[in-house]
Amino acid sequence: MKIKTFKGSFTPLELHKVRIVQKLNYPTLERRAEALREAGNNMFLLKNDDIFLDMLTDSGVNAMSDNQVSAMLRADDSYAGSATYFRLEKTVLDFFNKDYFLPAHQGRACEHILAKVFVNKGHYSIMNYHFTTTKAHITELGGIVVQFYSKDALKTKSNNPFKGNMDLEKLEDFLSKNRDLTDFVRMEAGTNLIGGQPWSLENLVGVHKICRNYNIPLILDASLLADNLYFIKEREEACKHLSIKQILTRISDLCDIIYFSARKLSFSRGGGIVTSVKEFHEFMKPLVPLYEGFLTYGGMSVREMEAMAVGLEETLDEDIISQGPLFIKYMVESLDKLGVPVVTPAGGLGCHLDVKKFLPDVDSHSYPAEALACALYLISGIRGMERGTLSEQRDENGVEEVSDVELLRLALPRRVFTLSQVKFAVDRIYWLYQHKNLIGGLKWVEEPKVLRFFYGILEPSSNWQELLIEALRKDLGTEE
Ligand SMILES: *Cc1c(COP(=O)(O)O)cnc(C)c1O
Repeated sequence: MKIKTFKGSFTPLELHKVRIVQKLNYPTLERRAEALREAGNNMFLLKNDDIFLDMLTDSGVNAMSDNQVSAMLRADDSYAGSATYFRLEKTVLDFFNKDYFLPAHQGRACEHILAKVFVNKGHYSIMNYHFTTTKAHITELGGIVVQFYSKDALKTKSNNPFKGNMDLEKLEDFLSKNRDLTDFVRMEAGTNLIGGQPWSLENLVGVHKICRNYNIPLILDASLLADNLYFIKEREEACKHLSIKQILTRISDLCDIIYFSARKLSFSRGGGIVTSVKEFHEFMKPLVPLYEGFLTYGGMSVREMEAMAVGLEETLDEDIISQGPLFIKYMVESLDKLGVPVVTPAGGLGCHLDVKKFLPDVDSHSYPAEALACALYLISGIRGMERGTLSEQRDENGVEEVSDVELLRLALPRRVFTLSQVKFAVDRIYWLYQHKNLIGGLKWVEEPKVLRFFYGILEPSSNWQELLIEALRKDLGTEE
């Protein structure tokens, strides 16, 4: 549905009404400064009570519909053979047009099972771009991740509508030389780490043809498929006349295996793997009771399974899946107009600030994206997530890997925030951009060896946070 306004300017419109609300806490500036110190300048260590708008992630925090919540009440609980499971299985198989379903407790659990079955030591897993958990499972087993992303994928400012596309020439060339050392090709919908960027159906058709030629399985990570479906319908000329379900069926039919995190796809929690290749199904099936739970729940609660089934059905409704991308588009375009560096075009998942341009003078080894996350929290109570050098690991000699891009991701969990809240975020980010010269870097107090970004402790390299607080007080006075 396209509702127009008289003045013609673009404003996203909520296509739902609010029936249940949760009160937010707006912590005072003093409390925010204190909370930031207590959390060691690490966004993951903040407590929810100290946060006004939580834009950390879209994972497991999307708003559910009335139909999902009511379905949860009829859930049928049983270790084996619950009615809920069979409802879910039927819905998932109809949704993806496949024959076999395996449940798992979340997206990375599917990746664990797939890696165990398909990854061979020293062999290649080819993808359009990696995701953190996917790569970790593959490298853990000695596999090598190879990425053939499009030439615009890492350009933060671009008008390429499909930055998530695979480079088909590179894929063909690589397979012509390394076919026997390749385990599978993986396409990630709504490519997460480059800013929630989609690929086109045309590109997937190309990937499929090459995989068929070389007889290599094509695996789809469908965690962010809802956004990708919407973008194909919106941006791909040849698909404008197709329904979301028709586009979905074309995508599914091109892929041998599809897996997803239901923390994103279906606005619930959980995950699953589908295929129509009996042999693949038989290889993966024994791993579900071993790692996840019995085959009729796979580590999920029956309430979540009911919500997932309804959530998948609702994903076929364009008015529902458009909401995330439309609000993100508004946020990205508003900031872009104000001259604030953001990743364009707007993708799914959230708005991404381009920190290399925002803070050009803060060196990568002083973690500019986390510094900007701290600064934004301090001046607004908004929590974002660092996607840059802090999220990388040191190599075996302790040398720090510098990230391709330094981003601050401001996720918009689906249907959670209103337009006024997005406007508030834009206003504070704009203020911060005017005062960007005050922002300095961070240094380690305690640096963990593994997954350091989750629980490492940092401190500012100078008194820049005090200066920022002073500047905010000068401009806005006291708010509280
Ligand atoms: C979130 C995500 C995963 C992992 O899913 P979890 O449910 O968090 O384990 C895998 N792939 C992509 C593209 C994701 O966005």
